[in-house]
Amino acid sequence: MYIVSGCLMGHNCKYNGGNNENSEVVEFCKNHKYMVVCPERAANLPCPRPPAEKRGNRIVNKNGEDVTEAFLRGARLSLNACLKMAQISGEEIEGAILKANSPSCGKGSIYDGTFSGTLTEGNGVFASMLENMGIDVITEKEKIKW
Ligand code: SF4
Repeated sequence: MYIVSGCLMGHNCKYNGGNNENSEVVEFCKNHKYMVVCPERAANLPCPRPPAEKRGNRIVNKNGEDVTEAFLRGARLSLNACLKMAQISGEEIEGAILKANSPSCGKGSIYDGTFSGTLTEGNGVFASMLENMGIDVITEKEKIKW
């Protein structure tokens, strides 16, 4: 079973109320078991909402508000939901395909907190939690290896 970012599947959970539908990810999910998550919506953040970026160890939105606690809560709730779903269905979590560059889902590079479109090295908070549990995370920018 795979974990997939909701916005990649066409769910309108992105900060601006839209999505990042990715045809390769959608195609992959036609042939594999998967569960869709959106950590930011799991935190009950509104949609649309101000964009947010990671700045050091904190996450701030474009209005200057510190939204770290909400992002961490959403990531934890999403992780727990995935673990429970896998347990109930008796499936292993084989990997995750998450949205690149996001402060929640990004892996390897994320926006740097200046809201200028600049990337820096790092992971989103949800991607970090998955990797800390030994779950293999890729983004839609990588070739799907499974
Ligand atoms: S990148 Fe992650 S948190 Fe952001 S909208 Fe997509 S699924 Fe939700």
